Amino acid sequence: MVDAYVGAWPVFDEDYEEGLDKAFLRYKEAGIKHLMYAGIAHTFGVHPQYYKNTKIDPQVQIDFETNHGDLFGTKYRLVNSDFNEIRLLAKKYGLNLEVNITPGVSEPIVAAYPDVAVMDVEGNRSKHWMCPSNPDVRNYFTGRVEDIIRHTEGIREVELDVVSIDFYDPQVVPDWVPPELNPLGRLAIGNCFCEHCVKKAKDRGIDVDAIKREIRAINKDATVLTYQQFTDLSDSYRGIFDIVRFLLRNPKILTWLNFRASLVNDHVLNFRNSLKKIDPSILLSSDLVAPSFSWTLGQIYADQPKMTDMTKLMLYHKRIGSFEAKPLQRIQKAIPDISDHEILEQYYRLKGFSGPMDMAQFITQGIDVENVYYEVRKAKLEAGANHKIIAGLVGDPPATVEDVKNAVMLADRAGADGFMLHLWYRNAPKENIVAFGEQLKALGRVV
Ligand SMILES: [Zn+2]
Repeated sequence: MVDAYVGAWPVFDEDYEEGLDKAFLRYKEAGIKHLMYAGIAHTFGVHPQYYKNTKIDPQVQIDFETNHGDLFGTKYRLVNSDFNEIRLLAKKYGLNLEVNITPGVSEPIVAAYPDVAVMDVEGNRSKHWMCPSNPDVRNYFTGRVEDIIRHTEGIREVELDVVSIDFYDPQVVPDWVPPELNPLGRLAIGNCFCEHCVKKAKDRGIDVDAIKREIRAINKDATVLTYQQFTDLSDSYRGIFDIVRFLLRNPKILTWLNFRASLVNDHVLNFRNSLKKIDPSILLSSDLVAPSFSWTLGQIYADQPKMTDMTKLMLYHKRIGSFEAKPLQRIQKAIPDISDHEILEQYYRLKGFSGPMDMAQFITQGIDVENVYYEVRKAKLEAGANHKIIAGLVGDPPATVEDVKNAVMLADRAGADGFMLHLWYRNAPKENIVAFGEQLKALGRVV
């Protein structure tokens, strides 16, 4: 299978500082054809006629990206460059600059319009997760993309970055979130209960109050912060079948998890209809977290073929530990008797991951590369043979040349239809980009 879809998520300001010709040549030599620069959706001009049906002003995000930036850095060079010119330069190297947009999370937008955020079971608003059912949110994203596409030549793909639903980012567990014991905390997800979601639920005949009661009761159990409670849960949820027992006892949770996924699907379908009306030839892709836990974000692999043209699976196995450790460490802080081994063993069992049994190592080195194989395989089998799964692999530190090569090899073995190299966390070794291309060539996936 020669000429797979091959792309990268690079950082524009880094490429700019290095010299675009040099950076573009390296991508070309690695077989990369599609570039998704971090924050690119905020570099384009704003034409007010596309935002008539939303109160969200796109300038809020643009100003934030220019002056503050997010965890992927400021976007000063990116925002102040003329992408029509850069696109022409990239074309000389066989590269296409596509559009990536994050239609779920924005701290500056939520700060400016708090009522567009998701609401938890107690009525609190999230500080950065926008509700996929909120009309202002939906019209902002469809309007923004229409504005970009109608005023920019040559965009061939729009990528939805983590279109999903949650309350806070597990990478930054806020202080006000009480530690929640696994698996109960992740099974009984208390959002979104905003007026738009509640109305949709009621229209579908869902008993929202009964679901709230069930979620509250499970959350109560999940926040009994004793060593006994931790071991009771660890001892009783050992395998996949144990979760079925939980669902039989709490059947409304299943209705709720399905409903949450339908809210995300509905947002994507609305987006798709709008995009394909503007230009049916533009591909729509969506970035999902790994299938073992994507359902917690309302992302269902099996549903992707009816919504998008391809799915990009993001499993940054060398980086994931530093994010996933945060909620685990919150639990350990509340219950100091829990050892690293105990909490990591429980975590790995629930997600089906393998990795180090030491928290410090988990944080710095992440999980084993074999997980790349299993997650890509699951995604392929869930989404079906006709839907493209693009393996998003880590190129950022601490990934080494060997790590990149191994990940490419395992994703290929699992049946990936394409490959993306992630570089957004900055300062990725350039050798990782070269190694990515070398391994793809060795496997015959690029010429
Ligand atoms: Zn909502």
